[in-house]
Amino acid sequence: MSRQAGRLFMPNLIEVKNLCKTYDNEGVQTRAVCGVTFDVKKGEFIAIMGPSGSGKSTLMQILGFLDRPTDGDYVFDGKDTFQFTDDRLAKIRNRKVGFVFQAFNLLPRTSVFENIELPLLYDEKKEKKEENGKKVMNALRSVFMEHRAEYLSNQLSGGEKQRVAIARALVNDPEVIFADEPTGNLDSKSGIQVMKILQKLNDEGHTIILVTHETFTAEHAKRVLQMKDGALVSDEPVKNRRYAKDGEILK
Ligand code: ADP
Repeated sequence: MSRQAGRLFMPNLIEVKNLCKTYDNEGVQTRAVCGVTFDVKKGEFIAIMGPSGSGKSTLMQILGFLDRPTDGDYVFDGKDTFQFTDDRLAKIRNRKVGFVFQAFNLLPRTSVFENIELPLLYDEKKEKKEENGKKVMNALRSVFMEHRAEYLSNQLSGGEKQRVAIARALVNDPEVIFADEPTGNLDSKSGIQVMKILQKLNDEGHTIILVTHETFTAEHAKRVLQMKDGALVSDEPVKNRRYAKDGEILK
């Protein structure tokens, strides 16, 4: 079955059209992304690939509302984001988007539990402590880390840190998880575990957008977008996807 046939009945979560970003540093202009058009259906697992400097991170920052495009359209969940105030973008970022970074970005000397609870405390719709606790433990269970809730983040291995970072990205039940080179700082075994966890989350219905320069990592996704010099140069389904069933995740 072709990707188009499989995706046919899912609504679009992301639609970008002719997206461009030019950085302007004291009059020096760098065109990082230009003329990028594609869509992402709910429930997809996409890898954005390309050499260093091809615009992957810039694109991800725009899609994740960490930055704005200089031109083009970005429709998220049916809403044109062009007119959104910075406040509204911050709210979307906190409620609808989860991030996983190469360097984990956990608070050191702070417990795993507190690291994951943090996004819940930022949200204006503060829930009761008990409710937050349940969400944190559910997120930890999703990444097989509930036994480490009381550990300090600096007492964990790299792979465990990244699993905690994934739990933090999940805790607000986001519409989409962006993972920027999530295996870049990991040994190959831990990297594969992280990719299997992302696949499990995708199987559970989460939309995932991964940025990577490694073909091996990208082959865990279902569809690969290739960037070059700021442009999208190909958009293809992954033919021989690397995939492991649930029971094998931590092997
Ligand atoms: P990638 O993630 O594929 O390595 P980037 O999106 O980081 O690519 O960068 C794309 C281009 O934009 C590069 O030429 C880079 O030097 C430039 N760039 C990225 N961030 C900035 C910035 N804040 N100011 C100026 N140029 C930038």
